[in-house]
Amino acid sequence: MIIDGKAVAARVRAEVAAQVAELKRRGVAPGLTVVRVGEDPASAVYVRNKIKACAEAGLVSTEHHPDETISQAELLALIARLNADPAVHGILVQLPLPRHISEQVVLEAISPLKDADGFHPFNVGCLWTGKPAPRACTPHGVMRLLDEAGVDLKGKRALVIGRSNIVGKPQAAMLLERHATVTIAHSRTPDLAAEVARADVVVAAVGKAEMVKGAWVKPGAVVIDVGMNRGADGKLVGDVEFAAAALRASAITPVPGGVGPMTIAMLLANTAELAARTVR
Ligand code: NDP
Repeated sequence: MIIDGKAVAARVRAEVAAQVAELKRRGVAPGLTVVRVGEDPASAVYVRNKIKACAEAGLVSTEHHPDETISQAELLALIARLNADPAVHGILVQLPLPRHISEQVVLEAISPLKDADGFHPFNVGCLWTGKPAPRACTPHGVMRLLDEAGVDLKGKRALVIGRSNIVGKPQAAMLLERHATVTIAHSRTPDLAAEVARADVVVAAVGKAEMVKGAWVKPGAVVIDVGMNRGADGKLVGDVEFAAAALRASAITPVPGGVGPMTIAMLLANTAELAARTVR
């Protein structure tokens, strides 16, 4: 089975649109504010896509676009204003930030109650202790894809390749919560092929084109490819050797059209949920 991320993301977005419409009937217009510092070209594209997706789901979106010379103190003051603004339900600071600003300090300044990306340490702690809170969008989207594909995770060996704060670690927490037996591999893992060969579910989040070989995949395994890499021809390729892996996997996500569309969909879902919490 090729897992169709575009179709699942469209369903999530329709659910969010319905939730937003209901909130508006109750007098709440859910709003996401994006802060983009400076002129990173990739960030400009990501933010444009997020704002467009907000509009399609009926969310109010605003963008703050300070110059890259903004000081950390000025950026923190902007975040403090957004934290205090009742019309703002979700705040997202697009990374990377200029080098003179600490990403960690800025992310921790966002109120956990408005943390649309789910990166605040308080919300990360909620994830690991099983409390409801906004969750990192990409791994949250992966969980939805696994659910839609009917994958029963209980007791399965799940391998997460990558241990970043935005994908690998929260992914491992979410798989563990669903009773998988979780292994996390990273750059110091000595025999990745052997780890992959044992896994019933593989989530690859490395950032190296086709580094997970199809021949490593256990027959019948489920393969989720988070990687987004530009090939030599400029085309987007994943971390998994797709054609060879697809011959062995029972279900696999393509790149593009797999995990990618889920990230923005889950960002919208997080924002709508943060707004809903203000009236519960
Ligand atoms: P990071 O660079 O932060 O993390 C990469 C991880 O891969 C690290 O933990 C690193 O290990 C590990 N790694 C590197 N080399 C190897 C290796 N040879 N074997 C095993 N593990 C290795 O990346 P991100 O988590 O931010 O992103 C990962 C990929 O996912 C990227 O391609 C990115 O573009 C994509 N992505 C896609 C999204 C989407 O919406 N589809 C959203 C976010 C990311 P170590 O910690 O030891 O250095």
